[in-house]
Amino acid sequence: MAHDAPEEQIRVVVAKVESMGLRAHPIPGAERTAIGITGNSGPLNPAEFETLPGVRAAIPVTRPYKLVGREVRPEGSVVRVAGVEIGGPAFPVIAGPCAVESERMMIDTARALRSAGADLLRGGAYKPRSSPYAFQGLGEEGLRILARVRAETGLPVVTEALDVESFPRVEEVADMVQIGARNMQNSGLLRRAGRSTRPVLLKRGMSATLEELLMAAEYILSEGNHQVVLCERGVRTFSDHSRNTMDLNVVPAVQSLSHLPIIVDPSHGTGRRDRVAPLARAALAVGASGLIVEVHPDPERALSDGPQSLRFEQFEALMRELRAMAPTLGRTVSAPVQQQARK
Ligand code: PEP
Ligand code: MN
Repeated sequence: MAHDAPEEQIRVVVAKVESMGLRAHPIPGAERTAIGITGNSGPLNPAEFETLPGVRAAIPVTRPYKLVGREVRPEGSVVRVAGVEIGGPAFPVIAGPCAVESERMMIDTARALRSAGADLLRGGAYKPRSSPYAFQGLGEEGLRILARVRAETGLPVVTEALDVESFPRVEEVADMVQIGARNMQNSGLLRRAGRSTRPVLLKRGMSATLEELLMAAEYILSEGNHQVVLCERGVRTFSDHSRNTMDLNVVPAVQSLSHLPIIVDPSHGTGRRDRVAPLARAALAVGASGLIVEVHPDPERALSDGPQSLRFEQFEALMRELRAMAPTLGRTVSAPVQQQARK
């Protein structure tokens, strides 16, 4: 739409799209509102829309993804998670253990993270483990712990939903719902996330191409939820010196094709604590929208992903490095937040 097109003209275009039996997705942007059209089985005639008042251009989208495409919002999307902006000049850091193990460890971790400058707290209550015999997470008790820890420390929470069944319980507590690598192509779960009012963190599948990642995000947007942040967490290659191969190249590739922010997970990407900081610095340098990092109070005793979890002091050192690097790249990293005395 033209940048000064009034609401009424947008409504007329939406009504026209719907009268054709198609779905209209108005997407407000900084400059103008774009209206995505889905449901058509073949190309539409641009002239049918260009003649309507307030329409600046009808752009046929030839790529399979439509709503996540950069042309819809050329300035890029900013996703807000409880006041934390992902996709803007800030470089937010999500940190915490792989899994919620107990209230004590979550409180201690959240306090340490806060005083190091983390923006959001991560921790899985439901864990997608490779083995059915491994620790599967505390489930609902884990969610209750996350809610209490947020109330006590003020850190908003990112946690994973494993299936459609538990999704409502997860979205009730989570400030951002994570969909993990193993579920990236679970279309039922993606659609459910698309009907949520919570922002979604969508991790790239371990063998997913860029187009498959964008199509997974398209599922969520097509149901009406536009608050999606993508995450590169390493992919499978022949390279066998680390758990996965970090595909940092995908960050600028996503940015040229999509308006969605993309963050980087150097913990799962490397699988090794000593590699996390170098790849985290690289993520900032390559222009990622933020980081998600595993941190544990006692990694040797962690119930999952101990070898890749940073100790508190390592995380603090990483935050200092990122804070020093950020200004030269036009970015900012949150400052430490003073903690009250321990209870
Ligand atoms: C996690 O974040 O702990 C996790 C299981 O990640 P991924 O889905 O990327 O393996
Ligand atoms: Mn993990």
